[in-house]
Amino acid sequence: MKILETIANVHAHSRGRSGRSILVPTMGALHRGHVELVRAAREHAGADGEVAVSIFVNPLQFEPGSDLEKYPRPETRDEEACRNAGVNLLFRPAANEMYAVDRSVVVDETTLSQTMEGASRPGHFRGVCTVVAKLFNLLAPDAAVFGEKDYQQLAIVRRMVRDLDFPIEIIGVPTVREADGLALSSRNQYLSATERTDATVLSRALRDAKERVKAGETSTTKLISLATKTITREQSARIDYISIVDGETLEPLEVARSNARMLLAVFIGDTRLIDNISLT
Ligand code: AMP
Repeated sequence: MKILETIANVHAHSRGRSGRSILVPTMGALHRGHVELVRAAREHAGADGEVAVSIFVNPLQFEPGSDLEKYPRPETRDEEACRNAGVNLLFRPAANEMYAVDRSVVVDETTLSQTMEGASRPGHFRGVCTVVAKLFNLLAPDAAVFGEKDYQQLAIVRRMVRDLDFPIEIIGVPTVREADGLALSSRNQYLSATERTDATVLSRALRDAKERVKAGETSTTKLISLATKTITREQSARIDYISIVDGETLEPLEVARSNARMLLAVFIGDTRLIDNISLT
C-alpha cells in the first residue's frame, strides 16, 4: 500500500496512473462501514484497478465549538485497516497541506443543503463540497464511494458532480449496522453504556415507520409524530429533526410515496447521531 501525504506527490501519482481508480473519502477512525465502502470500491475497480482511501478530518466541515478537536484519529490502526482491506493508496494529508491560510474559494450547494444537517450545522456542507471537490481534483478517480448513512451528503455530492461536470461516477453503499440496528459511526464510541442501549431508538423508530408504511400508512405527519413519541420515550434522547423527504430532491413530502426517505438526527446525551431509511 502506497501512503501519500502531500499534494505534490498525489498529483504526480494521479498523472502517472493508467488503470481505473476508485476513491473512498473518509475522516478515519475506520470501522466495518468504511470497510464495506472499500469492498464496493474494489468491485468497481477490478482486481487490477486502484482503490484509494483518503483520511482527512476536514476542519472546514466542523462548526466552531463542535467536536473537531476530540474527533478520534487512530492513525496506526487506520493504516492497518486499510492494508487489511486491500487498499492500494492511502492519502492522508495534514490540514495545512490541504488549506492555504489565505484560502478564499469554496464550493457551495444552495438547495439540498439548506435543510436537516445543513440547517443544524451551518457551513457543514460547504466544507464537505469543498473538500470532496479538492479530493476529486487531486486523485482524479473514475468513481467515488459514499455511504447512505450520510444520505443528505450523498445526494449533495451527486448534485455537485452533475452541476460541476466532474467525470466521476458516485456509488452509494447501504448503511452497515450493529446486530441491534445501530448504524456504525465513529461517534458511537462517545456513548456511555446506557446511552449505547438508548441509541438503538434511532433505528427502531425508522424500522417502525417503514413497517407502518408497508401496512398502509401514508401520512408523513402521522409517521413523524409516531417516531417522535418512540424516541422521546428514551431518557437520554433529544430530537434535532425528523424529516420525510423525496430521496433525490430532498423535498419534504406530505404523503409517503415511492422514493420517500425518513431522515433523523437525535442527541443521545451529548452525542449527536444521524440515521435514515427508505420507507418504500
Ligand atoms: P466519515 O469517515 O464518517 O466521514 O465517513 C466516510 C464515509 O463512510 C461516508 O461516505 C459515510 O457515509 C460512510 N459511512 C460511515 N458510516 C457508515 C456506515 N455505518 N455504513 C455505511 N457507510 C458509512
